[in-house]
Amino acid sequence: MKERVKISIQGAVQGVGFRPFVFNLASELQLNGWVLNSSEGVFIEAEGEKDILEKFIFRLDKDKPAISFIQSFESSFVDFKGYTDFNIIHSENNGTKTALILPDIAICDKCLDEIFNSTDRRYLYPFTNCTNCGPRFSIIEQLPYDRCNTAMKVFEMCDECREEYENPKDRRFHAQPNACSKCGPHVELWNNDGIILSLHQEAIEETVKAIKAGKIAAVKGIGGFHLICDAGNDDAVKELRKRKQREEKPLALMYPNIERVIEDCEVSELEKRLLLSPESPIVLLKKKDKHTTLADSIAPGNPYLGIMLPYTPLHHILLKEFNLPVVATSGNLSDEPICIDNNEALERLKCIADIFLVHNRPIKRHVDDSIVRVIMDREMLVRRARGYAPLPVRMNESMPKLIAVGAHLKNTIAVSSDKNVFISQHIGDLETPEAYTAFENVIDDLSNMYEIKPEAIACDIHPDYLSSKYANSRDIKVIPVQHHYAHIISCMAENEVEGNALGVSWDGTGLGTDGTIWGGEFLKINEDGFKRFAHLATFKLPGGDKAIKEIWRIKAGVLYEMFGEECFDKYAYLFKNIKENELNVVKKMLMNDINSPYTSSAGRLFDAVASLTGISDKANFEGQAAMNLEFDIGNTKTDDVYQQMVMECNNMLTIDWTFMIEEIINDIKEKDIPYISAKFHNTLAEIIFSIAQLSNEEKIVLSGGCFQNKYLTEKTINLLKNNGFKVYWHQRVPPNDGGISLGQLTAAAKQINKEKEKCA
Ligand code: ZN
Ligand code: ZN
Ligand code: FE
Repeated sequence: MKERVKISIQGAVQGVGFRPFVFNLASELQLNGWVLNSSEGVFIEAEGEKDILEKFIFRLDKDKPAISFIQSFESSFVDFKGYTDFNIIHSENNGTKTALILPDIAICDKCLDEIFNSTDRRYLYPFTNCTNCGPRFSIIEQLPYDRCNTAMKVFEMCDECREEYENPKDRRFHAQPNACSKCGPHVELWNNDGIILSLHQEAIEETVKAIKAGKIAAVKGIGGFHLICDAGNDDAVKELRKRKQREEKPLALMYPNIERVIEDCEVSELEKRLLLSPESPIVLLKKKDKHTTLADSIAPGNPYLGIMLPYTPLHHILLKEFNLPVVATSGNLSDEPICIDNNEALERLKCIADIFLVHNRPIKRHVDDSIVRVIMDREMLVRRARGYAPLPVRMNESMPKLIAVGAHLKNTIAVSSDKNVFISQHIGDLETPEAYTAFENVIDDLSNMYEIKPEAIACDIHPDYLSSKYANSRDIKVIPVQHHYAHIISCMAENEVEGNALGVSWDGTGLGTDGTIWGGEFLKINEDGFKRFAHLATFKLPGGDKAIKEIWRIKAGVLYEMFGEECFDKYAYLFKNIKENELNVVKKMLMNDINSPYTSSAGRLFDAVASLTGISDKANFEGQAAMNLEFDIGNTKTDDVYQQMVMECNNMLTIDWTFMIEEIINDIKEKDIPYISAKFHNTLAEIIFSIAQLSNEEKIVLSGGCFQNKYLTEKTINLLKNNGFKVYWHQRVPPNDGGISLGQLTAAAKQINKEKEKCA
C-alpha cells in the first residue's frame, strides 16, 4: 500500500542545490510529490511504497550535496493523496514569516574531527561548535538570534574566532556561540561544597577518574545537568538510585560510540539513524541476551535500554576518555525539572553528586533529553525536548493565536502562530513548586519569543489541575477541553486526519464530562466535537490516587465489582501478601463507598492484571506494573484471546472484562505469566477491533499513554489494518500527556473558528 511521507528539514540546505537534489532523488526512486523551500525550512512530501520512502529518507541524508548540512530532520507518514508528478514549489512569500528558533544540535563531524586532532587549535575544547551545530534554544535570550541576544554575550571573541565569525567563507561565519579555549567558556570541577578542584582538561580527566572509582558526577551539559556514574558498576548505580530516590525507574545510558551500542543491543537501520542524528535522542533499544558489562540495577527486569550517544563536545571528550557506557540520568530530584544553574545544582544535587563538572556558559532554559521508541518501523517520540523543541508541528491551515497549557503530568504547553504550533520542551509533572515555576516560565518564554497575544487559552476540564488553575486566573477567554478528546485530536492533528473518526483514548486517568474518571474511552469524533461511544466497564479505585502506587487496591476494586464482598474470602489467596489491617481498610472503603471513585481506565486495568498475575502488588511510579506486564511477554508468540463482551446500556457501549478476569484467575494456576500477559494484550486489541467494527468508522485513531506499549500498539494496528481500517498513531508528538497541549490547542482553534463562522 502506498503512503505519503511529510518531511521538514532545517539547516544549511538553502541555496546549495538542495531542491534539485531532492527532485532528482525523487525522480530516480519514482516518487511523486513536491519540495518547497521557505523561510521556515525545506518541506518535502513524497508518495510511494513504504520501503521506497524509507530509502528516500535514508538517502536524503546520506547523498545530500556535500556543502549542505541538516540540523533537524522530522518525518511522519500520513495518508496517500495521489500526486501525479514531482514538483519544485517556489518559496512562499506571503503570510507572516516566522523566524524559527532551532533546537540544540549535536556536534557535527567536522567539529568532532577538530576536537580530536591534536594539531588543531580547538583540540579537546569542550565548547567547539560551528554554524551547523551546537547550542541554540538553550542559549537564546530573545530574537533575533544574534550573539548579543544569547548566553554567549559575556564572552568577547578573540581575534582568531572573530575572523572566522566574520568570514563568509568560513564554517563559523555568524556562528553565534563560536568560541575557543582562549576566549570562550571553560569547565571547572567542584567538590560538593563548591570548592574548585581543577580546571579545563584536567577537570574532565579527574571527573573520569572519579567515575571510574565509583563516584557520582553531576555534569552540566547543553540543556541542563546529568547525573553520571559508571554503568558497569552495580554499587555506583545502586548508590545513585538510593540518593536520587529513584528505586526502579530505568536509567538512561550514554554510550561512547555506536559500535558499543550494537554490541549490547539490537539496533535497526532506523534506530541507528536516530542515535546518530543531529537530534540525538535517547532511543529505547532491545537488550541483547548477552550484553557486556552493564550493572543489573540499570533497568531491572526491563528488556529495553534507553541509550543515547554523546552529543556535545564535552560529552564526547568525557566518553572517549572513559570509553565505557555511563548512566546519564537527568540532574534533578525525583520529578522536579532538571537543574540548569551551577549554584542551584550545587544546592539541589549536593546530596546526590560527589563532584560537579560545571561550566560558565549559562543555560537559558532547561531542555531534557528527548526519548524515542520505534513502533511499526516508525519513530515515535515519547518525550519531545532537546533536538526537537521548539520546532513547530505544521498545520495545513492558519490557526488563531492561542495558548494551551497541557495536563497535569508530563506537562508541555503549546502556542500557535499562523500555521505553526510550537510545542514546548517537556516540563514534567506539575507536582512541585519548582515544576510549576518552570511551567510559568515556559509559557512566558514561548509567548514572548513568538510574540503571541492569545485570543484564548485552552486547558483541561479538570478544575484542580494547576495548569487549569493557571488558565482560569488569566484575564482571557478560557476554553476547557476534555482530556481524552485532547489526546485524540492531538493524534489527528499530527496525522492530518480530518472529518469523522473513532478515537481510542486509553491512559491512566483524566476527568470525564460526566464527572467520573475516564481512561478506557472510545470517542466518535466529528466536526463538532466528540460523543462518547463506548468505554471499559467501570470499577472502583479504593483510596483514589493511592491506588496508582498500591495497585493491589485496584485488583480489590476489580474483584469487588465482580463478586462483591465475597471476593475477599473466595480469593483470599490473591491478597496473601497484604497486611490484614490494610486489607480491612480497603474492604470498608469498597463496601461503604468511601473515597472509591469509579473509573473506566485501561491503564488501571493493566495494573489490576499485573497484580492478579503476581507481577507486583505495588508500583513505584505510575504505569510501572503495566510496563512490566508488557515486558514479561518477551518472545512469547500466541494469538489466544480471553472472552470479552460488549453490552449496551443507556445508549452507550460498555466492554465487560469480567469474563477475562475470571479466565485469568484460572490461568494463573497453570499458565505462566508471559502467556497470560500476551493473551491479555491480545484481548485488548480484540476489544478495540470489535468496537471499531461496531462504530461504522473507517478511521481509527490511537492515543493515550497505553499506546506507548509496543506490543499493544502493534498488535492493534495490524489487526485493524488487516481488516480494512485506516489506523493512525503518534509520531512527532507523544501519545502520553506530553501530547495533550497540541490536542487542546487544536480543539480550541476549531471551536473559535466555528464561532467566527457563525458570527460572519
Ligand atoms: Zn560543527
Ligand atoms: Zn577564540
Ligand atoms: Fe492522558
